Amino acid sequence: MTEPLVGRMRGFGTTIFAEMSALAAATGAINLGQGFPDEDGPEGVLRRAVLAIEGGRNQYPPGPGLPVLREAVAAQRLERYGQSYDPDSEILITVGATEAIAASVLALAGPGDEVIAFEPFYDSYAATVALSGATLRPVTLRPVGGRFTFDPDELRAAVTPRTRVILVNSPHNPCGTVFTREELAAIAALCVERDLLAITDEVYEYLVFDDAAHLPLATFPGMRERTVTISSAGKTFSVTGWKTGWVCAPPPLVAAVRTVKQFLTYVGSGPWQEAVAYGLAHEGPWVAGLRATLQAKRDRLMEGLESAGFQVFRPEGTYFVQADLRPLGHDDGLAFARSLPERCGVVCVPTQVFYADPARGRHYVRFAFCKRAEVIDAAVARLKGSGPAASA
Ligand code: PMP
Ligand code: GLN
Repeated sequence: MTEPLVGRMRGFGTTIFAEMSALAAATGAINLGQGFPDEDGPEGVLRRAVLAIEGGRNQYPPGPGLPVLREAVAAQRLERYGQSYDPDSEILITVGATEAIAASVLALAGPGDEVIAFEPFYDSYAATVALSGATLRPVTLRPVGGRFTFDPDELRAAVTPRTRVILVNSPHNPCGTVFTREELAAIAALCVERDLLAITDEVYEYLVFDDAAHLPLATFPGMRERTVTISSAGKTFSVTGWKTGWVCAPPPLVAAVRTVKQFLTYVGSGPWQEAVAYGLAHEGPWVAGLRATLQAKRDRLMEGLESAGFQVFRPEGTYFVQADLRPLGHDDGLAFARSLPERCGVVCVPTQVFYADPARGRHYVRFAFCKRAEVIDAAVARLKGSGPAASA
């Protein structure tokens, strides 16, 4: 049989998360690869989903999403960021941020267009841009003074007359960077000057550490009318399996995204939407506790990785630490990550798969710290004990 997979999707194969979680299951290794918490979200939120199911609310919700969730998202954006969105015409509920990103890219970019994204990028970005037929232009984040950032001149040089969209993920997976006011202002100024649309991925909006603050790009001058803001419930309420996300944007942009979204999934599941609406309205204190706990876990894992010999970069947000392998005498993260479960009983993710050219991220791996403290400690003990520096 000839290759059944359509040409533009060749090369995307199986996601690294599926590969590495399967490896963890097969070897019994501790999974610090795929980013999902090993503890449940707030009881009140979980209970609401059960009540919705038991209460018979099990048929299709309305296409744009349940009004109660659209209203809760509008209230959250207003209270937290001072942004005003109309729940009826400016908010759309999606099947996770993943569908929101896909529907947005497919709605706004097509063959002949270029989409800029900061690399390393979350793996769905490249696949989604490929599906759309547009061309991805990566702008590389590199370590400067211990954090990953971009060179504004490189960003500016990546814009061509064909550039239509810039995809901005902050807090950033996998680098942990939370873009500063100055970085966001530079992106915003370029979007305005070159008349670009922005799609922002803010799924880690609550998970920022120390004195970092999450600022939505849409709050910058000239950006509200050209930005599709995306977030989701998975990280905020430790319910990554619920796949409930949303889009906030002006009416013409939401209408464009909705046009595509309705043919991808039509609607997402109703019971989760009710539960997430409850969470946004009532679980602020629980989320603040999660943030503080995660910051402590970040410190715990960083210290452990450092003592095992990695060079680590302090993340300002997210679930993830980037680690450079070269001090251990390794330089291929993919080979390292594939052999680590067998050698050491720990799973990580090779960051190189998040680069347009894997060579640029060859020596990095990503570890997740959204795990119980004892799990992090056990992983660190294994990394120190059998020694990740042992031959790959
Ligand atoms: N964007 C980023 C940066 C992510 O890390 C993830 C992983 N959860 C997603 C989007 C997908 O979010 P969701 O599970 O809501 O689809
Ligand atoms: N967002 C999570 C990560 O980066 C998992 C996403 C996925 O499994 N697709 O690890």
